Amino acid sequence: MKRDLFFVFCVLAIACFLLTACNTKPDPCTTHTVENWATTTEATCTENGTEAGVCIVCNERQERPITAHGHSFAIWTVTQESTCAVKGSKKSTCTICGEITVQAIPMTDHPYVDTTVKPTITEDGYIEHVCPVCQDSYREYCFQKLQESNGLSYMVNQDGITCTVTGFGSCKDTDLVIPLDIDGHPVTKIRHSAFRNCTTIKTVFIHKNVEEIGAFAFSDCTNLKRVTLENGVKCIREQAFRACTGLTEFTLPASLTYIDNAIFLDCENLKTVYYNSDFAAVPYFTQTFVMHVETIVFGGTTVPDNICTSSSDLKTVIIKDSVKCIGKYAFANTDIETIILPDGLESIGDYAFFYAQNLKSITIPASVTQIGVGAFKDCAALQEIVFEDPDGWWQYTPEDAEIPGSAAINASFLSVPEKAAELLVANHTYYWKKEIKNEATA
Ligand SMILES: [Zn+2]
Ligand SMILES: [Zn+2]
Ligand SMILES: [Zn+2]
Repeated sequence: MKRDLFFVFCVLAIACFLLTACNTKPDPCTTHTVENWATTTEATCTENGTEAGVCIVCNERQERPITAHGHSFAIWTVTQESTCAVKGSKKSTCTICGEITVQAIPMTDHPYVDTTVKPTITEDGYIEHVCPVCQDSYREYCFQKLQESNGLSYMVNQDGITCTVTGFGSCKDTDLVIPLDIDGHPVTKIRHSAFRNCTTIKTVFIHKNVEEIGAFAFSDCTNLKRVTLENGVKCIREQAFRACTGLTEFTLPASLTYIDNAIFLDCENLKTVYYNSDFAAVPYFTQTFVMHVETIVFGGTTVPDNICTSSSDLKTVIIKDSVKCIGKYAFANTDIETIILPDGLESIGDYAFFYAQNLKSITIPASVTQIGVGAFKDCAALQEIVFEDPDGWWQYTPEDAEIPGSAAINASFLSVPEKAAELLVANHTYYWKKEIKNEATA
């Protein structure tokens, strides 16, 4: 009986298995295998294509997309450069479909130009960054205002209000900052010899309320490296900075009206002087004013009389466009070889280049209307004078009456630089003037 039951069970089991097997369709591949795909629709830059093939297992036809290949922008042309103010742009043409695309180029950084403004007693110093393209600017305050020196000795001036600094007193500063006032007395002067022989001083700051620096005030301060004179100082007395051998450059402010004799005597390392005064009387005997100085830069309206006379080391003279007049004897007996006169210059003083023996060539700007007596006397090497405007010149001696046009100089002659040089050097007893063209009546 048991055997029968087992047999029936087995038969049922086999039947079940066969039934199940018969109900399932043949194959279906879970993943079809297509070996050869053929494109039915080409893909473009932006649209998908299609391709089709037959499964090698089940023979079913399969289809699938071909992804759009995207534009091919290989070469870009900049249509507008970017700056710090505007974005630029560039364009490219798709090498496949010809579509044009435009893209922005990011703005550039500002090309800041930096100017340092030094600290004063009352103001912090800073670096100003200004963009020359878009004018964007910002300040970086990085220098604290100067600490006034304490303990200096002084005396009250006759007015009973202002005072004169007379010496170091109990002060031990190496960076000397003349205070605005001492015990309530505004400081307006530095007494003669006040800091003479103070070899500990390294820098000096003299504020704009100080009008006068006395004779020998800083002479023999051999470690003095930098002197700052604010625009306000009017007068520098005799030998004030004599033998300050640590000085290499010096800036004289526009406010100066008087420079006494030999203020830089024996400053053997002083090579560059910036002269910004509009006018300052310089006595004729100030031959030592710029002794040793190799470069002098004039930034006022006048090159004073006598300023560089007999300066044997002078090599470079820079005259800024603000200068209208070159004074008498200004460059007499110097060794300068070239000098560029600024456009806008109006007159060249008497004997301005007298005995400038190495001067080879000079150009007279069209704006010049007067050349003084002897301006180029004994300029032995002077081969060329280029007149930018050779028309309208005439000459007269100091004894003659000024009769415009009475002794006219032939413009065609004057337009030849070699001839002009010969004539001007030779005719050194004459004033030269140019008729100012009056356009209203011409
Ligand atoms: Zn298949
Ligand atoms: Zn394309
Ligand atoms: Zn900018």
